[in-house]
Amino acid sequence: MNPDLHEAWRQLARAGQRFGPGWAEVLDASFLIHGHLCGAMPLGFRAGLAALRALGVEREGDMAHRVFIETGTGHVAGCFADGAQLATGCTFGKDVIERTGYGKWAMTLADAVTGRAVRVSVRPGVMSEALQSPFVGLRRQGVPPTQVPPEVSRPLVQALLAEDDAGLLTVSGIFTYPLDVRSPSCFTTVTCATCGELVAENTARLKDGNPACLPCSGYQP
Ligand SMILES: [Zn+2]
Ligand SMILES: [Zn+2]
Repeated sequence: MNPDLHEAWRQLARAGQRFGPGWAEVLDASFLIHGHLCGAMPLGFRAGLAALRALGVEREGDMAHRVFIETGTGHVAGCFADGAQLATGCTFGKDVIERTGYGKWAMTLADAVTGRAVRVSVRPGVMSEALQSPFVGLRRQGVPPTQVPPEVSRPLVQALLAEDDAGLLTVSGIFTYPLDVRSPSCFTTVTCATCGELVAENTARLKDGNPACLPCSGYQP
């Protein structure tokens, strides 16, 4: 990690102070984890933050909330998903984020206990304008995100962080979102008789009477 780059991102992240105590640090970490400057990550961050506020809940720590992110794959501004993930704390590793694949810049945050939920989407005009930015122009020409000059990417990020929620986002009313009931976490492991690696018991299969991991078993996940 280039320390000069991190310092430049840290300065941008100071804009997060306006969201309340601790948010500049979360934003700083989000730039680091995301790995480049772009418009979509900050937009997702703003959407995630607005969803937390609307639902009246803290950033996710105990797998008590879930995000349904509406981006798809292989399209522009998919980085929105990282911003939503990092702001809400509903991360891939915690298994509390799912992609609906609609190809839209929106997300639903649901409380896994009460089923209360809120949907936040980027206003169409904001998205259209961002897609016409010089940043996206260079991306369209095939310039990798890290090769876009900072004088092009920084103003876009700064503007998206400075705008009010109402200018950026549409926040739904609170509604009930049907969530699947999950089994308690599996804490038991078995050793795959074929490769010798440890595998969570709820994912292991039997092959010729012996425990096997999915790749060794031939079953598809
Ligand atoms: Zn990005
Ligand atoms: Zn195996």
